[in-house]
Amino acid sequence: MTGPPSSFVSDEGLHRAKRSLGQNFLVDPNLQRKIVAALGAGPDDEVVEIGPGRGALTRHLVGTVRRLVLVELDDQLAASWADEFQGRDDVVVIHGDVLEAPFMDALERPEEALVIGNIPYNITSPILFRLLERPRPREIVLMVQQEVAERIAAKVGTKAYGALSVGVRSVATARRLFGVGRGAFRPVPGVDSAVIRITPTRPEPVLEADEPHLRNLVRAAFQWRRKQLRKILRDHTDLRVPAEALDRVAEEAGIVLSDRPESLSPEDFIRLASALQDE
Ligand code: SAM
Repeated sequence: MTGPPSSFVSDEGLHRAKRSLGQNFLVDPNLQRKIVAALGAGPDDEVVEIGPGRGALTRHLVGTVRRLVLVELDDQLAASWADEFQGRDDVVVIHGDVLEAPFMDALERPEEALVIGNIPYNITSPILFRLLERPRPREIVLMVQQEVAERIAAKVGTKAYGALSVGVRSVATARRLFGVGRGAFRPVPGVDSAVIRITPTRPEPVLEADEPHLRNLVRAAFQWRRKQLRKILRDHTDLRVPAEALDRVAEEAGIVLSDRPESLSPEDFIRLASALQDE
């Protein structure tokens, strides 16, 4: 492929960027290549791209991997891609919402797949949590808002550390790779961005049955992030741990009840969720 399909060839052409779909297109070819290189996909890999848009990343991937699955919500862009790749069995175009479409079903080995995307910023957290549902892919490289990259990678105990940091890092390792200034996009967004790599941990660090409880606990804890764990565990409506069980749970999990949620590492949260399950 040499360029994007002609029907969306320029800002002035048929396709206009839709703010509602977070359409800020990456126009710097060096950055496009750098992001695709960060994924490190080879000819045997199955790759999912979220929101191919006008093909900023797509054009560097197509034909280089075993299967490329494109998930695009925009009617016009999805139709253009479907048209462009009609008859190719190494490209699958899914016209749908990444939060709902069963795109992992298009893969032979979803747990070995790679995921890439310059994702719409208004739904970054839901996309992250969707991608970290089982079966989790082998690796994920995403462009996100700089501020979100900082929250994901934040050190325990800092202001940026919260539900997103724990949600991602309880099941994966996360690394900020490099920053991308707003000038690399059209239209130019109001924020800077960063590329992150998320690598799901193997073997799975959390039992499947414990995962909903862990999510519940993390959400409740950071809703009340200024309160001590004792109060959160005892009084939060989603938890309601009986007072007599608190010391037992704390001992089993190796946590201190007078601490606040932001001082617990992702591993502490995993142990705490499991201790709560044992009660
Ligand atoms: N990959 C292109 C690039 O780097 O220039 C486009 C990136 S643009 C920030 C986000 C893309 O995601 C757009 O193409 C948009 O239409 C698409 N999109 C927005 N919401 C989506 C959703 N819920 N599911 C799938 N794609 C979505």
